[in-house]
Amino acid sequence: MIAQTNESLEMLVMVSRLLSSKLDISELLITIMRLSSRVVGAERASLYLLDEKKQELYFDVALGLPENVQKMRFKLGEGVSGTCAKEGKSIISNDAQSDARHNSRVDNKSGFVTKSLLTCPMIIKGKVIGVVQAVNKIDGEFTETDKNSFEAFASQAAIAIENSRLFNSVKEEKNKLDIVFRKIREGAILTKPDGEILILNYSANLYLEHEKYNLPNVKDVFEKFNFRLDFAEVLKSEGHAYKFEIERDSPKKLILDISVIKLTKETKEEQSVEGLLWIISDVTEQRMEERMARNFLSLISHKFKTPLAAINGYAQLLSENTRDNLPEMVRKASASIYGQGTKLAALIETLLDFVGVDNLSAGELKMTETPVEELLREVEEEIKDKTPEVTLKVAVLDKFSVNVDKTLVKKALKQLAANGMKFNKSQEKLLIFSAQLKDGNKMISVGDNGIGIPGEEIPRIFNKFYQVEAAFTGQVEGWGLGLPLVKKIVELHKGRIFAKSQLEKGSAFTIVL
Ligand code: ADP
Repeated sequence: MIAQTNESLEMLVMVSRLLSSKLDISELLITIMRLSSRVVGAERASLYLLDEKKQELYFDVALGLPENVQKMRFKLGEGVSGTCAKEGKSIISNDAQSDARHNSRVDNKSGFVTKSLLTCPMIIKGKVIGVVQAVNKIDGEFTETDKNSFEAFASQAAIAIENSRLFNSVKEEKNKLDIVFRKIREGAILTKPDGEILILNYSANLYLEHEKYNLPNVKDVFEKFNFRLDFAEVLKSEGHAYKFEIERDSPKKLILDISVIKLTKETKEEQSVEGLLWIISDVTEQRMEERMARNFLSLISHKFKTPLAAINGYAQLLSENTRDNLPEMVRKASASIYGQGTKLAALIETLLDFVGVDNLSAGELKMTETPVEELLREVEEEIKDKTPEVTLKVAVLDKFSVNVDKTLVKKALKQLAANGMKFNKSQEKLLIFSAQLKDGNKMISVGDNGIGIPGEEIPRIFNKFYQVEAAFTGQVEGWGLGLPLVKKIVELHKGRIFAKSQLEKGSAFTIVL
């Protein structure tokens, strides 16, 4: 008795050692069954698993049974094993042949004679996942001690099965993720919140030459592009992704667009960042084309300026000449040339202005801390004299200061004001500059009592060269570059802009910093 208990303890220790070994699950289960049948002194042993969907038991390990028998399946409740699985309780049956629960299907097929059975359920989290069965006690009958030992083996086997299932499902998920990770054309890097690289895909490896340098952290990688990333800013940024671009000239021009997605875990109390996913795309070609287009625009605008100045100058001279008794026709024609020429010159100025701002990068801004009231008052002062017919109002609802490139932001506000007056048919034109704090955001708005903007147009008006139909606005000249210029200035300040409008009532453009 004591000898048996000692032996079964030893075997159990062995099994738990095996559990943490690298043995493959089926080998492991066979070993468990071999050891357990020895401990309880049985001729044979089997392990059945439960097929949840079909509610059937099938053999996973069947020591000593021929293959055709191993393919047999048993309904839940059928035979001793089926009963054990259904009830979740161990069964000792020392006279199997006269046990009503005994199912002779197996014996009939294998020619084996079952005399006694010890059957124990394998239970995980209160659910039966299968049963283990010892067949034919070699000496005497199965005892309560055998049952206890066998139950201990059953639970070890259950743990092994559960572990392997969990491991497999994790492995499967990882495989799926690996495939997605490898297949996407963009570079992808998964890092810890501090930037330590965990995995990266083929494209990322290519862009960042990871294999060559094997840098541990994305920060080091970006340093190769002379780019310093402010991690605190990435982590505290709101919204879906934090975007930026990095660029280097040698060995080959490379401009990469990077989006950082925060992988967060949400608990009831808070949201914590578990990791960062960096999506990298090569935008070199696109950016180079844009630069070329801008350079081209800038070049031709400059080329237009000199001849246009001569045309306008002479047209003005002729149209205002009263001395030489010029024919009426000549004066009219030159007045028209001068009028149109002036508009053309203004358009070219706008274009140059836009190209100038569009070429700027955030690093070139001259930032100063400025009280918002001062900013709005200065804008008011600068447009007051040119627009005596418009009523200007400044409403500072909250006092705060902003860290901005003052010249640029004033340019943006003046552009919004110009639009508010241009698209305005009211008898008494009104412009309101206001400042307000909302949810910690600094908001500056320019409102007007103009014609308003049709709702469906609002998403498009910030696009380059986009203009609402002239029939609606009654406007003739313009490039459709005013709002894109404002948007660019706002984005250089890492802010955003949105418009709200009501037809025939007016519009308000709000810059959020
Ligand atoms: P442009 O002034 O050269 O047409 P913008 O980019 O400044 O170009 O504006 C784009 C379009 O948005 C304009 O054509 C106009 O229809 C509309 N828009 C802009 N500001 C206002 C405003 N304050 N009120 C009504 N419509 C506006």
